[in-house]
Amino acid sequence: MDINMRPLVSSLVFSTTFIQRKPRQEGYIRVDNPTRLELESRLAGLEKAKFALAFSSGSMAITSIFLSLEKGDHVICHRESYEGTIRLLNEIFNRLGVEASFIDLKDEDKLKKTIKKNTKLIWFETVTNPTLSQVKIEPIIHIAKENNLLVAVDNTFATPFFSRPLEKGVDIVVHSLTKFINGHNDVLGGAIMTNNRKIFETLQSIQVITGGVLSSFDSFLILRSIKTFFLRMRKHTSNAKKIVHFLKRCPKVQRVSYPGFSGVVSFWLKPRFSPFTFLNSLKHIKIAHSFGGAETTIMSPSLMMKSSLSRGLRSKLGLTRSLFRLSVGLESHKLIIKDLSWLKK
Ligand code: PLP
Repeated sequence: MDINMRPLVSSLVFSTTFIQRKPRQEGYIRVDNPTRLELESRLAGLEKAKFALAFSSGSMAITSIFLSLEKGDHVICHRESYEGTIRLLNEIFNRLGVEASFIDLKDEDKLKKTIKKNTKLIWFETVTNPTLSQVKIEPIIHIAKENNLLVAVDNTFATPFFSRPLEKGVDIVVHSLTKFINGHNDVLGGAIMTNNRKIFETLQSIQVITGGVLSSFDSFLILRSIKTFFLRMRKHTSNAKKIVHFLKRCPKVQRVSYPGFSGVVSFWLKPRFSPFTFLNSLKHIKIAHSFGGAETTIMSPSLMMKSSLSRGLRSKLGLTRSLFRLSVGLESHKLIIKDLSWLKK
């Protein structure tokens, strides 16, 4: 083979250490891994960011951002955030001296009133889980800039195909790569993207010290998955729109929530119908956690997810036994609709 030839596809490099011509500080897998570095550059491209870091999970990426805070700092977090983020703040970082307030970030006055001298960070998701409501970025950025606060956004649901928060002035974007970006329900991973070199260097150093890096093999799989990311998002969305159209006409369905893009649809059964009878009627659609994979899956947030919210707030937000979150896959939409036919009868 001509030695000037390079492989067309990414190489999977397993080596945990690299031979040095001259002694250097780099060259260990936690710092430098060619497969992970290639993925990080692709991830930066997806969010049009200057920098990206790939972590062993979305949760580790979120943890690393909170680890960049100091004892006595205060975080304002949208009350409808991923339960794992709420638990990190409540059960771990609270013990380490980081204070958190959980509020409705759609209420600008409430946000202004919640800002304190020690507030450092505002946190929210572009599309909330599991009710799929959207939080407007611009007013939050405006208030954050006036008060010199950082804004971090979990963009897992919306994905960079539909939303690029860094372009709107957000400082840090975080992803669970486990969902749409990998999209095959076979890798656990996370990422952080930013345009701010100082934030990047702080988070990179936390990543190296804690060792929460993504493995070579998982980096390779995600690089492979990203090749079809745009195609998959188009198909997830066109399927989801057809399912929404169907659900809205089903007599047993009370309400449907869909942001108009992406592949997750939430809906509520009319309360007189049993959630168990509905789940038992499904043959093709599997009951499973997570979302964003090629297979259509369904979950009941009230039966399958912990919630730190009070009972009153849960019922106000619609987190009841009638709520289902459907992750619409890449199958034929006709197959998915056929499986949901109990709702129509
Ligand atoms: N962010 C959101 C919105 C999620 O739904 C999840 C997991 O469900 C995470 C972060 C955590 O990601 P991971 O499961 O990759 O740790």
